[in-house]
Amino acid sequence: MVYRLSPYTSISAWLVKEYVYCPMIPWIITHYNIVEQPTTSMEDGANLDIDYKEETIKELGLPYDTIAYEKEILLPDNIFLKIDAILRKHNEYTIVEIKRYRRKGYSDQKAQVKTYAYLLTKHGKPVHNVVLVQDKKIVYKRRIEEIDLETIKKTIEQLQKIINNDKPPKIKPTRKCWSCWYRKICPIH
Ligand code: SF4
Repeated sequence: MVYRLSPYTSISAWLVKEYVYCPMIPWIITHYNIVEQPTTSMEDGANLDIDYKEETIKELGLPYDTIAYEKEILLPDNIFLKIDAILRKHNEYTIVEIKRYRRKGYSDQKAQVKTYAYLLTKHGKPVHNVVLVQDKKIVYKRRIEEIDLETIKKTIEQLQKIINNDKPPKIKPTRKCWSCWYRKICPIH
């Protein structure tokens, strides 16, 4: 059976982020049609208002001629992106993902911003720099040439395989499981 995803769960940078955190999560989301209910701190982080984003860009001193906040982009195959800020300086575009809180491990957030770069590049929209910000500090910044887009492509392909498979991925429990919201319905528990 091939699962037809709603626009909310079509391949998106958000779903890639969840996949990188744990490959089981996108399977649960798409097969059980359930998504983690945001906690207060998650809501605070996810629903940053434009004032906070403007303040962040200003404090970081990132250069731009024009800027678009919360830019919504619909790509072919129903791929929907919402990017916190897109800065244009001369003919270069920088995409910025803004998180409120600092985190020790954030490979999932890096995957999110790199997925933006991959999907936009793939669909002919130029990206020259990607920036990830946590608590008003830049924690990751790369030129597009420094990003391994092939790895992101493979990650998206693996994600697609998982969500189109009737059976959950074969993975082992990790320390993340103890605090995971999906634990009660996770097939490996
Ligand atoms: S309980 Fe563990 S394996 Fe299951 S979704 Fe959560 S982190 Fe992944």
